[in-house]
Order: sequence, then structure tokens, then C-alpha cells
Amino acid sequence: MKKLFFFSVGLLMALAAGSQDLGYYLPDSVRYNPAIPKPKDIIYHEVGEYHVTHDRLVNYMKALAAAAPDRIRLETMGFTYELRPQVLLIITSPSNHKRLEEIRRQHLLLSDPARSASVNIDQMPVVVWIGHSIHGNEQSGTNASLVSAYYLAAAQGPQVDELLENTVILFDPSFNPDGMQRFSTWVNQHRSKNLVSDPNDREYNEVWPGGRYNHYWFDLNRDWLPAVHVESQHRLQWYHSWKPNLLTDHHEQGSNATFFFQPGVPSRVNPLTPARNQELTASLARFHAAFLDRIGSLYFTRENYDDFYYGKGSTYPDINGAVGILFEQASSRGHLQQTNNGLLSFPFTIRNQFVTTLSTLEGARVLRKELLAWQREFYKTALTEAAASPVKGYIFGKEQDPETLRAFITMLSRHGIEIYSFKNTITSGNSRFDPAYSYIVPTQQPQARLIETIFARTSEYKDSLFYDITAWTMPLAFGLRSAELNAAQLAQASTDRTVTAAGIPVAARPAQPAGYAYLMEWSGLMAPAALYVLVAKGIKAKVATGTFSLDINGRVRSFGYGTILIPVQQDIDKARLFNLVSEAASRYGVEVTAVQQGTAVKGHDLGSSSFVPVTLPSIAMITGTGVSALDAGEVWHLLDQRMNIPATHLEPSQFNRASLDKYNTLIMVGGTYNELNKEKLKAWVQNGGTLILTEEAVSWAAQSGISNVRFKRVKPPVDSLQRLRYADRVEIEGAQRLTGAIFGADADLTHPLAYGYTQPVISLFKSNRVFMEQSRNPYAMPFYYGGRPLQSGWVSRENGDAVKNSAAVIVNTVGNGRVINIADNPNFRAFWLGGTKLFMNAVFFGRITDAASGRTDAE
Ligand SMILES: [Zn+2]
Repeated sequence: MKKLFFFSVGLLMALAAGSQDLGYYLPDSVRYNPAIPKPKDIIYHEVGEYHVTHDRLVNYMKALAAAAPDRIRLETMGFTYELRPQVLLIITSPSNHKRLEEIRRQHLLLSDPARSASVNIDQMPVVVWIGHSIHGNEQSGTNASLVSAYYLAAAQGPQVDELLENTVILFDPSFNPDGMQRFSTWVNQHRSKNLVSDPNDREYNEVWPGGRYNHYWFDLNRDWLPAVHVESQHRLQWYHSWKPNLLTDHHEQGSNATFFFQPGVPSRVNPLTPARNQELTASLARFHAAFLDRIGSLYFTRENYDDFYYGKGSTYPDINGAVGILFEQASSRGHLQQTNNGLLSFPFTIRNQFVTTLSTLEGARVLRKELLAWQREFYKTALTEAAASPVKGYIFGKEQDPETLRAFITMLSRHGIEIYSFKNTITSGNSRFDPAYSYIVPTQQPQARLIETIFARTSEYKDSLFYDITAWTMPLAFGLRSAELNAAQLAQASTDRTVTAAGIPVAARPAQPAGYAYLMEWSGLMAPAALYVLVAKGIKAKVATGTFSLDINGRVRSFGYGTILIPVQQDIDKARLFNLVSEAASRYGVEVTAVQQGTAVKGHDLGSSSFVPVTLPSIAMITGTGVSALDAGEVWHLLDQRMNIPATHLEPSQFNRASLDKYNTLIMVGGTYNELNKEKLKAWVQNGGTLILTEEAVSWAAQSGISNVRFKRVKPPVDSLQRLRYADRVEIEGAQRLTGAIFGADADLTHPLAYGYTQPVISLFKSNRVFMEQSRNPYAMPFYYGGRPLQSGWVSRENGDAVKNSAAVIVNTVGNGRVINIADNPNFRAFWLGGTKLFMNAVFFGRITDAASGRTDAE
């Protein structure tokens, strides 16, 4: 490797307090175009002096695009929840810019095995996506983007010309604008003129929920695959319109660490990632090492971090024919912090991120042909491997729930996966797949490997330590039935045409006003949203606690548990009721049937008391210090974004002060609730409140005497008298963490908490060690893990034994109220749509559960 860059003074890590000008960061062997504005000209401070705010960052990027239009084009990918623009700079040579669209089209051919053989890569630029600070409180990346963008706009000479001629750089200065703004505001407002480096200072200790997450408190670096959030959706659109060869993901780690770059732990590379990917990762690592050696920065590789979960930014490219690189810089978490390695200044962290951007670009330039050839090879071998596999496709479907199918197909389409309708009904095992509500994904398509990771169940692992979850089998998460298809089944099904989300049929709704009542199916994903909007308008609705059949226009139709009955006898007139019901049904894709008479052919007549009135939920959720922001954010997102249901976020201190009379539903997710007034909470439940608990909140409530759930003891992995090697402790103890696996719970479909489910086994996601003993009340356990609950993922034998024959959900009656204990997370990362019904049932029907029993759990 040639020595290309020389850096000016500043090899020492500890820096004097105060600002550094651009000279600290930039290679001094390079000439810069004086017409290009420096960051300070636009953002008013030196890079690293303060944390740049998102608006100033965008101003600077716009200024660069305006000053260097022959090198930089600025695009807006979309807007965040808080309406900040997600900008993308396309940076390349003036001559490449002139034929950018042609370059893009040529480049995309590499991922199309049918046409890639004829592509000449000799003169083709390599496409590199440089991505910064997806975690909002890891801002050295985004602040380094000011320097990198200036360098790429202003540097002069043959080196930079050659770089730009051979690369198209997709430059994403901020992966998470909302989190970035929250964090930059925090550290800037606490910055002293004389920088305070004491880690105890307020500057280094953010208040809940901190800047890491997006608006809804989600970790966007887990969202590349599910793509639940607008930030990921906009980014994926651009990602697949270019399909980069290399993507960098600039993060920060603990303040006492140094600098990490991939490769990560070799045994934890996802087995679907071909070995060549890791060879290229290692080739690039030599560039990072050389560049960091030159400035004397400490670094490490092949430890801690891994390439396992494809929902992370540095791993997603690996299953898309590219190479993803994770960078982790020790965080100053503010402007200057004392660490085990001495004083860590913000400018120092920025410089490492800038230098590894330069090493990435130099690596991409040198390895250009290898990276391009690899992308072509990746997609070619994906097809040959798919051809050799006995699995020729996956079929999936769900009756009476087009909206879940639509969400699933939308997710697949975002990744460039083709979905087909088919002609003939297919039976696989006990499952029958009707073309009316099922679809097929054949594996003979370029995204074959991604398809496998989305559909396959996994149970074999080389390692027992994981950085993140161990399984993400998407049909299980979405609560769909699915099966593998062999060649004969695929041929028999006879695939028809490709479908998109827009092509999914909509649910049936009444053409004319009902004379007697409307019946709304509860099985649809969005039925709770439809019910809420109607009940909130004062419309009276009831829920069927039994089954019944009616004659509808001469045809007998049966209706299940949880069917919503809206009688025409209301305080509003028939025409308006029809309009409101039709509007809700079409907006939320829910099936509604108009009924002209109340007599049932079988089961209860519509006037029966087995139809129980639905109460409008008035919801508060405990949020704030101690509460898992991720879990709370999932509830917020579900209620607000998906269901359009408002909920109050109560801080524990506010809970203790406020009158709780106006709430009939309280939600508590995983967390510690030391400050919460237990007696007040208990009294509220006894007075008739519905308390919904998930994960560790279940244990907290039991310990606080609010519920009477009992827990299973987990057998320790080693005998207490056994002597073990000190060096093995991380491995042995780490294996007992339950980082995330999928378990199937047997559902009692007659229980109000299971209304709307049609399958006897519901997949739930477990990433905790809350194992509930069976309830003493035999009617109070609507979801239960049987003898072989593991469906996909890795779990230690001890934890696996504890899940077996444990309760997944228990309902306690406390006075006039109910405590709904949900051991796991039914809303996991907002793509676990299979758990949505359970959670929404708790919101709407928790209060109607009747725990009458000989063996009562009641006090
Ligand atoms: Zn991070």
C-alpha cells in the first residue's frame, strides 16, 4: 500500500481543551479549492467545537452541493417523523455526473444474473455508501461527515481525481436525524466554555430516552430488514436503486474502548454470508489498519461485534452482494471526557471516523474490480445454490387478514423480492393454501439468499454468544402460515403473475345500509383501529363471546369469537352510522357485513347477553427513567402510528401525583419501577382498572404484591461446587442470556385475549428470562408454552427447559380489576404483527375477562 496521506501534528490522543481547525483533520499534502465553503463558514463553529445540529448539517451539505455542482448532487430521500430531511449526496467526478443514470443502470446489471455476464467492469466505477451515526448519541460519525464532504468537494490533484473517477459515493451524513438533533441539543446545552471532562457531569449523562433512538424510541440499526420506520424505508429505496458494493456504518462504543473495524468474531458470521465477503472485509481492514497506524490510533478487530443479524446496517449489505463495514469509535459522549485511555476529546473521535472514511475510499478504489466482480458472482451463485436446493419456494397465507398480508408483501418488496400469485390450491402437511389468500416466493430469483434468511427456521449455530437476536423467521413474526415448496408442489401451484402490496384484495364491506346491525370481523390486523375510531365517536359496539351463524341473503354464514356487533339501534341516524362504519372499514381494510335480522340460525341471537359492550379504552403508559425505552417505544408506535389510538405517557413522578380516574387501562413494559407508588397502582386496579404488563414488569408487579404470578427457577448451568477456568466465564455466562428466540404458544381461541386468532399456535418472541409458572386458575391462562415450544432460534438447554410448560399469558383478577401478565414482548420491534392481536385484545377486552373458577387467583 502506498503512503498517500500525511497528517499534520496531533498524534497524541489527549488534546488541549478547545477547538481544532480543519487542519487537524485534513491530510496536509493536499491542495483545497478556496471557492468551497469550509464547515465553519456555514455552521458557525469549528468541527468538533460543538456538536453540529441537524439543520446546520443540512445547510452545509446544501452549500457544498451549490459550490461544487460538478462533483456533488444533493438528493432528499425523504423526511423523518419529525420532518427532518434525509439528505443523500451523490459524489463522483464531473464526467461521471454527466452520465450518472447510465452508470447506475449498468451497475444494476451486476445483480441480475441473466444479464450480468456481458457487463464490462474494467472501467466501471465502484459504488460506495458512506453512512453515519445511526445511533443518535454516537455523533463522531456525523460530525466527521462535515470534514469528509468538504474534502471530497474541495480537494484538488490527481489523487482525488482518480478516486472520484473510479467511485460513485452515496454519502449519507445522518442515518438518524431525529436522534441526532435530540443528542446534539443535550450536549451543546450542557457544554461549559471551560470543558468539563468529569464523566459524572450532566453533559455525559443524557435523560431518558437519550439520543440513540429515532422519534418512536426504536433502534434504527435493527430495522434494515423489517423496515418498519420511514427512515429505513426511504434509505432502502435508494439502496436498491443503486445496490452499492460497499457500505460503511460509523458508530461509537464505550468511552474506555479504542476503535473497532470489521471483520468481527469469525464464528459469528451468518452462515448465509459467503466466505468471499469476509475475505474482502479482511482486505479492506488492511487499509483501515494502515491509515490508523499512521496517526497512531489504537484499534482492534475480530472481537465483540459480529455479522449475524441481517437487520443491522453493516450486515445487511453482506446478503445483498456487497460488503458492510462496522466502525466503532470510543465515545466522548460530549466534548471532552476522562477515560481509561486518558482524555478523550470529541475532535479526536471525529478524526478517526474521517480517517477510516479515507481508508474505505482508498480500499474501494484499489479493490474496485474485486468488489464489482464479487457482486456479480454473489448473485450468480445465489441462483446456482437455489437451483441445487430441494426447497424451490415458500408459500404463505392468512385467511381474513389482508392487511397483514399487505404489510408482509410490502416488506418483501422493499428488498427487491418477487412475489407471485398462483392458480391451484396447495396442501403442505396440515396446511392448505388457497390462492385467494396465499402467495408464493420462488427461490429461483436473485435475492434467493435474502429469501432464505427471511423464511427459514434456524436451529443450528456455531457459537452461543450473540450480539443481537438469534432468529427472525418473518412468517412466524407476522403470524402467517407458511411452508416450503419442493419442485413438484411449485409446479402444481402454477405461479401466475407477480404481485405487489397494491394488488392484495381489500376486505369486503357492505354496499348498502344495514336494517338491523353490522358485524365486523376481528381477525383483520387493523380491526382494533376501526373499532376505536367508531367507539370514540360514541357508537355503541359489542363483542361476541361466543360463536353464531346467520342467514345472510340466503346463505348461512358463521361468525367467530370476537366478532364486533354494531346494532343499528343507536343515538345516531342510520345513514350516518352507515357512513362511519363504511369509512372505518375501508380505511382499515376490515371486513364488515350488513345484517337485516337478529335471529341466529345457530348459536346466540344478536340481542343475547353473550354480546358484551365494548368500553372506550383510555390509556396511560408508564415511561421515563428505568423503563425500557425500546419496549415503551414499541407500544407508542403500535398505538399511535398503526392504530391511531392516543395514549398518555406518564412519568413515575407524574403517576404518583396525578389522579388516575380518567384512565381505565395502564400499560407497563420491561423496566424497573422503583419510584412508582405501588399502593396507588394496586388501589387503581382494585377499583376496576386493567393493568397490562409485559416482560420484566410482570416480575415487578408480582414482587410488589400487585399480581400473584409465580415464577419458575432456572437450573444454573454449572454446579456451584464445580471449579471452572476463569477464562471460560464469558462464554458460559453469556450463553445463559436469552437474546431472542421464537417460541410457539398454544392459544385458547375461546378466551377474549385470543379473539381474532385462527391458528391454535401463536409465535411469540422471547428475549428475557421471565418464566411464569402455570396459573392456579385453569381458565386464566389463554397462552401456554407446551412441551416443545422452540420454533426458531438459539436457546441454552437451561432456558429452554424453563420455557417448557410455562405460561405465556396469565390473567389475574384483583378486586374489580384485571392484571394481564404477558411474559414476552408481543410488539417486538414493531414487525411482530403476530402478537398485535394479543396486545390489542388486552387493551379492548382485558376488562371483560372473567376469572370465575374453583381455584381462584383472586385475593
Ligand atoms: Zn451504535
